Amino acid sequence: MTAATATAGSWSGAMPPTLLLPGPRFLPARRATSAAASSLPQRPLRCAVLGAGFAGLSVVYHLLKESPAGSHLSVDIYDKGGVGAGASGISGGLVHPYSPKVKPLWLGEECWEECLKLLGVAQTAIDARKSGASGSVWYTNCRERIIRRRGIIRPAVDVKNLDILSNNASNCLPSCVVERVDRDAAQNLLPNLVVPYGSAFYMPDALSIWPLQYLQAILLACKDLVEENRASSIGAMDLNLNRKSVDCLHDIEGEYDAVIICLGAESDLLPELSGKLPLRTCRGVIAHMQLPTNTRECYPDQSPSILSDAWLAVQGPKDLCMGSTWEWRSRNYSAEVSEEESSRALQELLPKASVIYPKIKDWTFEGARAGVRAMPPNTTLGSLPLLGCIDDLVQGKPSCRYWLFAGLGARGLLFHAFLGKLMAQAVRLGCENVLPPELTSWKRKQR
Ligand SMILES: Cc1cc2nc3c(=O)[nH]c(=O)nc-3n(C[C@H](O)[C@H](O)[C@H](O)COP(=O)(O)OP(=O)(O)OC[C@H]3O[C@@H](n4cnc5c(N)ncnc54)[C@H](O)[C@@H]3O)c2cc1C
Repeated sequence: MTAATATAGSWSGAMPPTLLLPGPRFLPARRATSAAASSLPQRPLRCAVLGAGFAGLSVVYHLLKESPAGSHLSVDIYDKGGVGAGASGISGGLVHPYSPKVKPLWLGEECWEECLKLLGVAQTAIDARKSGASGSVWYTNCRERIIRRRGIIRPAVDVKNLDILSNNASNCLPSCVVERVDRDAAQNLLPNLVVPYGSAFYMPDALSIWPLQYLQAILLACKDLVEENRASSIGAMDLNLNRKSVDCLHDIEGEYDAVIICLGAESDLLPELSGKLPLRTCRGVIAHMQLPTNTRECYPDQSPSILSDAWLAVQGPKDLCMGSTWEWRSRNYSAEVSEEESSRALQELLPKASVIYPKIKDWTFEGARAGVRAMPPNTTLGSLPLLGCIDDLVQGKPSCRYWLFAGLGARGLLFHAFLGKLMAQAVRLGCENVLPPELTSWKRKQR
């Protein structure tokens, strides 16, 4: 457990014992207390999950996965653009549990561990199709692997930076170590890498993933859970993906017991939440770069992705993403990028990337995509996502309980699995106490 979780108020970081037991798992809205859980009869739990990005799909997976045997669970996902239509689908796909100064993030260890598990689940769902176990139609259109395990390297960019990185690296997490390497070792890892201050910081276990394929694979894993459940006839599960915009919470048809809002930067566009969430928007453009097919040059297969003032997330021998710009308070939610915006992004990103990897100039620009980060307030523990039951804010249907899982900022991949799991548990129990108070304290400040 990290020092942060040890001081987490009423939340101990351990799973509450009720979650380990089969039996009643849903407490009707506004009447719930965890103590009353065991006396309630079984009844179907109907959930609507708004948003099919990292947050939404993680919650869906964990709701299904942890539904006790014999129970009835129905989950409807709503996303106006389908799976990965928001920031998740276009993100750089870089995952590690550190700040830019390689300091472990709050709950970094737990989040890292749970993220690896969910990535593994998604990969297994793809592998099952590859081996023909679950039909192969989808697989033929999909990348075989969703994870590139070549680590990430960050060269120090000035003397002060070198000191801070060295100091922090010496306190790295055992599950994702940070090695200080000298120039020769760094250039062995990636020829042509510039190491201006003689040292770079290498995270061999850090990952680059293909975000859209990953999201599609989580959805497959969810479908597999539903199928397994059907085959074993020990309960009933339904899962539906609705490509539909939810413009206000009253629009959602059907009687839900729980509505979980995972709309990323667009969460506060719901009229019920407008002006009530401490989120700032930040649009980011990513440039897709390729090496010409007629050259023999390739990004070395064993080489890590790069973090610096601009990052390079390697996607293949001749494919990488270069990111990202930071346009604060943008209200442009479109993934499309105009010629003018791409050209501005290239002018900003190329010089930054060239400082560390001059070879980027040999790559050609293939196009750009953009997404909007939902940035939560900075606290002494860092930028923490916003979670919690928001019945007080919503004033919705009295029979329904409303939950928020937003503000994943620039670290959605790290946070989504662990916090999605906690959120699913909170929903299932109808009880917010399973969430660390640091993640729900934003609500007290809003009052
Ligand atoms: C340029 C850029 C690069 C990034 N790179 C990384 C990275 O390398 N690593 C990392 O960990 N994080 C990265 N991030 C951050 C990460 O992308 C976010 O933290 C994460 O995607 C947030 O996930 P989410 O599910 O909360 O939101 P989203 O992915 O935005 O999902 C919200 C979903 O809600 C849907 N939606 C919105 N409004 C409605 C509505 N009214 N009705 C129905 N559906 C609706 C959208 O279509 C969308 O699919 C990056 C972000 C950006 C912008």
